[in-house]
Amino acid sequence: MPKRSRSKAWLIVVLLVLLAAIGSVSYLGWRQSVRGVVSVTTPPRFVGHKTAFVFTLEAARGNVARVEIRIVQGGSSSVVAKQEGTFGQRVEVPFVLESATLGLREGSASLEVWARDDFWRPLRPHERAIASYPVTVDLTPPKIELLGATRYLSQGGSGLVAFRVTGASRTTVSAGKLVEPSFAWGPPERGTRVALIALPWDLPPGTALTITAEDEAGNVASRGIPSELRPRRFPRDSIELKDAFLEAKVPELLPQRQPSQPLVDSFLIINRDLRRQAEETKRRIGATTADQPLWEGPLVPPRKTKVFANFAETRTYRYAGRDIDTQVHYGYDLASTKQSPVTAANRGVVAFADPLTIYGNTVILDHGLGLQTLYAHLSSMEVKVGDEVAKGQELGRTGASGLALGDHLHFEVLVHGVSVTPIEWWDARWIRDHITKPLLDAGLSEIGSREEPGGRAPARNAQRPTP
Ligand SMILES: [Zn+2]
Repeated sequence: MPKRSRSKAWLIVVLLVLLAAIGSVSYLGWRQSVRGVVSVTTPPRFVGHKTAFVFTLEAARGNVARVEIRIVQGGSSSVVAKQEGTFGQRVEVPFVLESATLGLREGSASLEVWARDDFWRPLRPHERAIASYPVTVDLTPPKIELLGATRYLSQGGSGLVAFRVTGASRTTVSAGKLVEPSFAWGPPERGTRVALIALPWDLPPGTALTITAEDEAGNVASRGIPSELRPRRFPRDSIELKDAFLEAKVPELLPQRQPSQPLVDSFLIINRDLRRQAEETKRRIGATTADQPLWEGPLVPPRKTKVFANFAETRTYRYAGRDIDTQVHYGYDLASTKQSPVTAANRGVVAFADPLTIYGNTVILDHGLGLQTLYAHLSSMEVKVGDEVAKGQELGRTGASGLALGDHLHFEVLVHGVSVTPIEWWDARWIRDHITKPLLDAGLSEIGSREEPGGRAPARNAQRPTP
């Protein structure tokens, strides 16, 4: 071989070796540099007596292989969760932390996450915490002080409770299983809260009413409201369904029905499913109430009307001589002349103005603190969502839209979206004894007095107080 070509071959070999060496070193360097496990957990802020957390960890390459969660306070560290094995690229580590068992004291501490992956690296890095979250140990439950409450309550009625709460981030009032919101009354730092309470028509007498307060550490305090829930008798009625009525109403209310479906089967879908949908809408609109009262004085009933159906009337629907359905009627049916003006029962803001299944064209007015009024079966609506209305202002005209037999107004009073009897809210004396009295007992200003409870402009369509 000539000398020149031999040295060329050598040069190629040297270059290849050099390339292989550079390649290996950069490959090992890359393996070494791959990021280890990271915590993608929403940082916890508080630790209570018994606090549940879920830590979420992710490995950049390979799998999470070992996890340890420790709580560190004043130089001492305890392991609260430990997992070893191969968990996959993303792992959730749930655990419950019991402060007493761990000997934690109130004050600051930190939650540390120790973790590693199974990705091979030339040099094993030192064990270290991959994340550390400062937390506050809070073992003191909120304090609830009852200031005033409606003493005598009735099924299908309303009530009010005023209280002071300290150290809570979420406060609710419950009537049995029904959980209702409360609202700050006056400056938030004073901690005074007021809640209107809806008592569903079928709430069993003797049901406990409770105020519950929870802080961010999960500490819960609750207190019973001393009151007496009295039974009320509600009427029963039966409605005979005629083919002419079904032929007129079913196509309007269930346009998507199959023509082969018997009218009475379609009617049952309307009477059950569409009715339930309307109930859900009422609850949803109830949660958008203003956080201050917008109303003043009693609700005003429509003038020159005749009542022909009452609140919480249980109705049996009959067709061709058989009982086919039973439903509860949640409003007052008030009849006057056809297309007579429908007026606002009190000052408020339009929270809903649209067709609402069986209710037809419906307006819901928000009066604040969860109190709302509903006007249904309208032939026309003259207001839109967000409009401020005065007491007595015209909202539209009566009609027979929705599941109505003839021209009338279906009127409801709602508290947090739950239908209650309007009788109480039409009665100035009832309001004085059951709503104003507990407020005065609590040393608070009465609703509608010139002094604004919050000292600020009323907030409209506010969300339910955030937890
Ligand atoms: Zn009705």
